[in-house]
This record gives sequence, structure tokens and C-alpha cells, in this order.
Amino acid sequence: MDCLFCKIVAGDIPADIVFENENVIAFRDIGPQAPQHVLIIPRTHISTINDFNASHSETLAAMMLAAGEVAKILEIDQSGYRLTMNCNEDGGQTVYHVHMHMLGGRQMSWPPG
Ligand code: AMP
Ligand code: ZN
Repeated sequence: MDCLFCKIVAGDIPADIVFENENVIAFRDIGPQAPQHVLIIPRTHISTINDFNASHSETLAAMMLAAGEVAKILEIDQSGYRLTMNCNEDGGQTVYHVHMHMLGGRQMSWPPG
């Protein structure tokens, strides 16, 4: 399968990994949109949020639990951060392996662009 993030999971493409466990990997976004910008992805390939099903419950929990760990590692757990998941074209998804953006280190605005 020709998936960029599967290649990062496999170690075929380098990434600046900040946290990993048996279910997820978190690495710095190559085009950071904030002083801290990390992507949290499942090791298993799931294309979009629409493809989650009940069998992914452990993976979904692992992504959220990883977010708390990553926020502490980045030292933005107290200052705050934003978690974003983009889905399909209108959502602005460009890599079709689900991922959660963690953005922090600056004041976020609302509504998002
Ligand atoms: P999205 O637009 O929500 O699909 O997010 C995809 C993200 O992946 C973008 O923020 C990109 O900057 C990021 N990205 C693309 N290629 C890489 C890479 N090789 N390493 C790290 N981040 C990447
Ligand atoms: Zn993939």
C-alpha cells in the first residue's frame, strides 16, 4: 500500500518521533502550523474517520490517551492545545491515514479556518 504514514510506521521514511507505544506513533509535523505541532497516528492503516468501527475501540482510546502523554512531553498540557482531525476534502485532509493534529505553544483562534 502506498501510504506515507504507513511508511513512517514501518521506518521507511524518517520522522521526528516524540512518543510511541504498541498502538500509536506521535511525530512532529513537517509543516508546523504552531510552535508545537505533532501528529498522533495509529500504527494500523485506517484511511479516514469514516472508516472507524467497533473493532478500532482500543486504537481510538490509545490515540486519546497518547494525546495526554504527548501534551506533557511537549509541556503544553497546562498552557493548552488543540486536537484536530480533518476528514476528506472539505475537512482539509491530505494524508489518508487517520491522524490527530496536536497544536500548541500559541493562542488558538476560533472559528478555525
Ligand atoms: P491533513 O492535511 O490533516 O491530512 O494533515 C496531514 C499533515 O501531514 C500535514 O500537516 C502535513 O504537513 C503533514 N505531513 C506530510 N508529510 C509529512 C511527513 N513526511 N512527516 C511529517 N508530517 C508530514
Ligand atoms: Zn497508512
